[in-house]
Amino acid sequence: MKGFTTRAIHGGLAGPEAHGALRTPVYDTVAYEHDTAHSLQLAFEGRKPAHVYSRITNPTVQDLEQKLRLLSGGMAVLAVSSGMAAISNTVLALAGAGANIVTSRHLFGNTISLFEKTLAPWGLEVRYVDMTDPEAVEQAVDDSTRAIYLESITNPQLEVADCSLVAQIGAGRNVPLIVDNTLMTPYLFDTAGAGVAVEVLSSTKYISGGATCLGGIIIDNGTFDWRHAPRLAERAGRIGPMAFIGSLRQEVYRDTGACLAPHNAYLQSLGLETMGLRIERSCANALCIARYLSGHAKVCSVNYPGLPESPFHATARRQFGDRFGGILTFDLADRQACFDLMDRLRIIRRATNINDNKTLILHPHSTIFAEYADEEKEAMGVRPTMLRLSAGIEDHDDILADLEEALKTP
Ligand SMILES: *Cc1c(COP(=O)(O)O)cnc(C)c1O
Repeated sequence: MKGFTTRAIHGGLAGPEAHGALRTPVYDTVAYEHDTAHSLQLAFEGRKPAHVYSRITNPTVQDLEQKLRLLSGGMAVLAVSSGMAAISNTVLALAGAGANIVTSRHLFGNTISLFEKTLAPWGLEVRYVDMTDPEAVEQAVDDSTRAIYLESITNPQLEVADCSLVAQIGAGRNVPLIVDNTLMTPYLFDTAGAGVAVEVLSSTKYISGGATCLGGIIIDNGTFDWRHAPRLAERAGRIGPMAFIGSLRQEVYRDTGACLAPHNAYLQSLGLETMGLRIERSCANALCIARYLSGHAKVCSVNYPGLPESPFHATARRQFGDRFGGILTFDLADRQACFDLMDRLRIIRRATNINDNKTLILHPHSTIFAEYADEEKEAMGVRPTMLRLSAGIEDHDDILADLEEALKTP
């Protein structure tokens, strides 16, 4: 198989292009005309692969989907409007009232909010366990469990669970494992190889490149037999392995209007072409920054799976190889020290978002987790003394110099 970046640049191309354009254009159109009434009927019945309405399929979006299918090795891909749309659509397609999902408290803040504030009132039970404790996962799963859900590296705790092990526990009970692989992407972590059923991504992050637009990706790895998923069993019996993506395309995704704008799909396809290069640089920068901060007298602790002292280093190395993502966290003496450091930085930007070309810094406790009580934040591993840094692709000497200057006592 050709290399990742070769495939990223030359793969995709959904169909013949009228003018021979080398790059799939932005098809900013809502509807598609058919030659005959019969052709429209066949398209609506799903018996003829053709576009009818852009909330369901669009050529520019399809180009991105095909690129990602090629790159991830997944069986089928659906591109959606944001990472949260990818997560919500996936859970909505698999679970429902009276069912439960097994997950961890170490999750992206909005994902916890989706589960607890948006979906729980509709009757979904959410069970929290420690994903690094296989026995706890095993005990939480029962006949009403519709999915196990975790993040390949959790944000911002940077915890790494053994995905193969959790996938095996799920497989033993016919429960699919969903992994949010935003922090690693298919470039750094082959979720299909680990037995993960569905990979979800916020393509807003590494894929878009430079944070140009929001987007999300759902990948069906083809590792799970959907006849064992109660919500999908009937469809799987009828249409086979495409039951999950089919139920999204023809129901959940279509009905929730989670479609990705063609222009955003275009920007994300463009980003994808350079993603491998950017990730290499971002991971190298993150490791370099983590090492520098570990040796600094004002820094109490550094959390990065790439450091040998990280409790997740061994699992991360086994699972991801020798690159550990672009995010690290570190603790200073107190919250004021965190704010002071942030305010003195000149190159590193004070902003939310991660895996941007720019190095970004944020105080999670007072921002993305602000809506939670202190005890809840503690349970989520979000400390007032902690800063999150997302390494960009700048020259690392400039980033280190910026930190060095800002860490000096004024
Ligand atoms: C950003 C992020 C999301 C949400 O993605 P959006 O594109 O902002 O909706 C989900 N999971 C993780 C791990 C993220 O970092």
